[in-house]
Amino acid sequence: MAQEDVFKKLVSHCKEYGFVFPSSEIYDGLGAVYDYGQNGVELKNNIKKYWWDAMVKLNDNVVGIDSSIFMHPTIWKASGHVDAFNDPLIDNKDSKKRYRADVLIEEQMAKYDEKIEKEIEKAKKKFGESFDEAKFRETNPRVQENQAKRDALHTRFAKALNDNNLEELRQIILDEEIVCPISGTRNWTEVRQFNLMFTTEMGSTADGSMKIYLRPETAQGIFVNFLNVQKTGRMKIPFGIAQIGKAFRNEIVARQFIFRMREFEQMEMQFFVRPGEEMKWFEYWKAFRMKWHQALGMGAENYQFHDHDKLAHYANAATDIEFRMPFGFKEVEGIHSRTNFDLSQHAKYSGKKIEYFDPELNQSYTPYVIETSIGVDRMFLSTLAGAYTEEQLEGGDSRVVLKLPAQLAPVKLAVMPLVKKDGLPEKAREILNTMKLEFNCQYDEKDSIGKRYRRQDAIGTPFCVTVDHQTIEDNTVTVRYRDTMQQERISVDELHAMISKNVNNNELFKQLV
Ligand code: ATP
Repeated sequence: MAQEDVFKKLVSHCKEYGFVFPSSEIYDGLGAVYDYGQNGVELKNNIKKYWWDAMVKLNDNVVGIDSSIFMHPTIWKASGHVDAFNDPLIDNKDSKKRYRADVLIEEQMAKYDEKIEKEIEKAKKKFGESFDEAKFRETNPRVQENQAKRDALHTRFAKALNDNNLEELRQIILDEEIVCPISGTRNWTEVRQFNLMFTTEMGSTADGSMKIYLRPETAQGIFVNFLNVQKTGRMKIPFGIAQIGKAFRNEIVARQFIFRMREFEQMEMQFFVRPGEEMKWFEYWKAFRMKWHQALGMGAENYQFHDHDKLAHYANAATDIEFRMPFGFKEVEGIHSRTNFDLSQHAKYSGKKIEYFDPELNQSYTPYVIETSIGVDRMFLSTLAGAYTEEQLEGGDSRVVLKLPAQLAPVKLAVMPLVKKDGLPEKAREILNTMKLEFNCQYDEKDSIGKRYRRQDAIGTPFCVTVDHQTIEDNTVTVRYRDTMQQERISVDELHAMISKNVNNNELFKQLV
């Protein structure tokens, strides 16, 4: 199936099974804003718990906070967001559609990559076993030509971004003959900068209200609380502060479902270190965060690092962790070495001294910072994309199954009486009532067992147990495993331990420490 179709199916699956709904749907929705349904919120909470415990519980020197969304407006001046949190936008005069100029150029680069991949695929088929990809890349004229075009474009694009050269961005779009996908024309406006922060007003206008911003990242709430946490927690450098919370960006182009939203959630950690030690810690957190992703077992080949072409105004190193989405490898998490930029800026703008006295060095300094920043919603999307599977079964049947890591699955166990009589529903409820003390469970007695299994497969429930007449006699149930569809008879007394072992985050954490 084409990847585009997979993505479309995933989006409709999310809606049909209560994971994600368009926001304000009965009013025709609101661009790039989404609501999480009954299963979505469970998956989202499990992702957040996996992150929080991995960062705050496993690392002795990381603590959490929960800062507010509204903050003093000067914070955003100090952080550089008022002046520099911009995206370059361009309009097509015929379709009146708006695009991000950098994204148009990145898509053009991806087209060259696709052409190269196609040549390689063709050759692979032709030469079979004896195919030498490295040699083919070096010698095939069409591959060479496209690679040269791509490399030249990449160099020119990176320079234009770093120089903040908007005219050059436009010229690249013209030179590459990039057309608007709607009108098909090259009738482009100038490229302009567009600030992504939402504003609102605090206080009544009669009193003289203040213009404030909805935070575009949670990180600044951590920086402005650096001294509070360091002093009250008696924290010694190196240490980190983590938080999970909403962030808002007035994205120019909202596409790809929950990949790019205007209201989203971030899980961020700022790790404060001695100046000069930041590269060591950058490498440390890169490795730790990649392990966190890969522990979920969705295939190491589906992740890659991607170093930034353009460093943000505050960074001296930056990389993304990308996941293979149905629309290609895309950023899920950013790891940035932010120098001492933010703390210094807040010291300057607030007039307060923000320093740390290092007893070992017997000196005060402004700490350097390594940031790990992951979007909950993008993590949610990547998890679903990795889990969504359509399977053909024996006998011509098929099923859609979400092969979610059991630890993240919204429902852990479904309890089903075989028939609605002979005391089986009562026995099933009795089992449910003990299991629900610890696990999110569902009771289902409607339709055939086969149909009930399909419903649980579609939301990724790892275990179903069926209560039948034998259960009443010997207290055993049939457990049916989601991925293998195998069934096994086990004692009800063993059920709790079996589920606990599989859905507890401990097994994941063991891979991180
Ligand atoms: P992009 O280049 O895709 O716009 P970014 O580099 O601006 O992302 P960061 O500022 O590094 O993103 O934000 C950290 C993380 O927050 C991202 O890795 C992503 O997971 C998440 N994120 C950022 N913007 C959005 C958005 N509009 N919708 C959903 N998640 C987002």
